[in-house]
Amino acid sequence: MTADLEAQLRAVSLRVTRPRLAVLAALREHPHVDTERVIALVRDELPTVSHQAVYDVLRALTDAGLVRRIQPAGANARYETRVGDNHHHVVCRSCGAIEDVDCTVGHAPCLTASDDHGYMIDEAEVVFWGTCPECAAASTPQ
Ligand SMILES: [Zn+2]
Ligand SMILES: [Zn+2]
Repeated sequence: MTADLEAQLRAVSLRVTRPRLAVLAALREHPHVDTERVIALVRDELPTVSHQAVYDVLRALTDAGLVRRIQPAGANARYETRVGDNHHHVVCRSCGAIEDVDCTVGHAPCLTASDDHGYMIDEAEVVFWGTCPECAAASTPQ
């Protein structure tokens, strides 16, 4: 698995460092986590890594296209390693849980604008908002 992550870094000409490997591994195991959670996960493995180091790694990985940053309205930015497929997300209004929703046709964009205003559209992003099963169960009167 580490060799696989190292190959990903090399493929985008990023130097292989332990913080970069740790961030990629954390995001692979825990998709859609925010920066604070990434820091906590990375520190399980590298206790001395600084906040700033993790911020820098997230930015470098996002810029290189290895990590996708998503930011639902009113929520912290979340990160995931599932990139390049333009999938969508469903977000719980109560607890902020996020799940992936696959595109209906599998390539970007999966939605056609009724009027593209002459733009060359290459991506469509949809956020479905609702209540996750756990929150729905918790709020149902017994
Ligand atoms: Zn919820
Ligand atoms: Zn996702």
